[in-house]
Amino acid sequence: MTDLFHALGIADAATGGSLSVLSPIDGAEIGRVRPTDPAAMPGLIARAQEAFRHWREVPAPRRGELVRLFGEELRAAKAELGALVTLEAGKITSEGLGEVQEMIDICDFAVGLSRQLYGLTIASERPGHRMMETWHPMGPCAVISAFNFPVAVWSWNAALALVCGNPVIWKPSEKTPLTALASMAIFGRALARFGDAPEGLAQLVMGGPEIGEALVLSPEVPIVSATGSTRMGRIVGPKVAARFGRPILELGGNNAMIVAPSADLDMAVRAIVFSAVGTAGQRCTSLRRLIVHHSVREELVGRLVKAYASLKIGDPRADGTLVGPLIDAASRDRMVAALDRARAKGGTVHGGKPVEGVPGGAYIQPALVEMPAQTGVVCEETFAPILYVMGYETLDEAIALQNAVPQGLSSCIFTLNLREAEAFVSAAGSDCGIANVNIGPSGAEIGGAFGGEKDTGGGRESGSDAWRGYMRRQTNTINWSAALPLAQGVRFDI
Ligand code: NAD
Repeated sequence: MTDLFHALGIADAATGGSLSVLSPIDGAEIGRVRPTDPAAMPGLIARAQEAFRHWREVPAPRRGELVRLFGEELRAAKAELGALVTLEAGKITSEGLGEVQEMIDICDFAVGLSRQLYGLTIASERPGHRMMETWHPMGPCAVISAFNFPVAVWSWNAALALVCGNPVIWKPSEKTPLTALASMAIFGRALARFGDAPEGLAQLVMGGPEIGEALVLSPEVPIVSATGSTRMGRIVGPKVAARFGRPILELGGNNAMIVAPSADLDMAVRAIVFSAVGTAGQRCTSLRRLIVHHSVREELVGRLVKAYASLKIGDPRADGTLVGPLIDAASRDRMVAALDRARAKGGTVHGGKPVEGVPGGAYIQPALVEMPAQTGVVCEETFAPILYVMGYETLDEAIALQNAVPQGLSSCIFTLNLREAEAFVSAAGSDCGIANVNIGPSGAEIGGAFGGEKDTGGGRESGSDAWRGYMRRQTNTINWSAALPLAQGVRFDI
């Protein structure tokens, strides 16, 4: 561990503070970081504003160069940062590395984007006039992130915000501060190579909700991108809106898969197992509800019970492990309580028993729960590997069930029937931000815009035109004639 901290340049920052960091692998303390003093927040925000005044005038492709260098540094440090994600968040090795790869991918995307912050040219109704749209930087962007993607979520926001001309202030989850320190140290290497970036362009603050709140309430922080529970979003969203700031909310999901009679069940089984038990069910896009046609339900459940029984659960660093620990014991308690509620509503539970993986860690078998109906607990997000299974007869009924939860993040259908597939992604189909066909709901690529509707918060990050959320739009009308005609033919002669 000490070697890892040295390699990542966080040996000093990760020790000696008052905030204890525990590894979910065995509950051992792996670091102590210094929390940010709330009294320091106004100064930090002022530094970001100062950095903004400089950075907004740096040409966007030059800003992209900083992000390009960051991508290079991430490539060089991928193994170490991935290992730290595993140690601090409990992800299996390939998922820890995958998370860093996601950071690299968004850097590549943002570098290209830095030459493509396009606006429109618009036909003017007046002679000798030109209309156009320009996109300008907004100002400091706060990033409040969750424990389960401790580094990727920051980079999705930071890479875009930086090429868009905005400084970034990051408040990571209090459960995963070490990976945040390491990401900032790697970013520091890119900054050193870049040369003339302003002080305070990317800052890190440590602590719980009270530190986040300072960013949420400050009118000097125009963008607040907050990723976490719907509970958190309900507090943060209205506070940012009340000061007319721009919230980007990425909140909880309750993602479903519909398995139709024509589905390729071999593919469906693989997709289900990865998306329901991968990351120990702790992805916002984890599969939580399976809506299966009655004609294939028995066969599919039988195959899943078998697949679940073969899963290797334990130390996420060990070869062959597919299910690591939950983040902490409280999370395991919530899973056990949810299973009790499901049983009370007539659910049949397969798995779901605590496992002695590594002493001190919260290991538990993923659970498959056959439900007679989509009752209360099924409509909630329990952040753990529980997959509720329900049956359906008609596609309309399946889509109605899929949409009948408060959350609207990710969804999918397995079918070989073109009409069903198209119906699912149509306006009358899934109501989610992500709707896939013959692919599970989790593991999105960075090229698409990421986010969801309803209780998921409505924000979009990452690819497509999500960058517009980090810029302000300006409409310009330029009169290059010698006359002053008014729009709509209005006359105002003086
Ligand atoms: P959480 O809501 O407990 O915490 C998330 C972050 O919000 C932390 O940094 C926390 O300190 C901060 N926070 C909490 N209350 C705050 C307040 N009042 N003011 C300011 N900041 C506050 O979430 P978690 O347990 O870390 O993460 C799991 C949740 O995140 C799940 O619900 C999951 O679905 C969601 N998530 C969503 C996405 C997405 O993109 N939609 C991605 C990852 C995780």
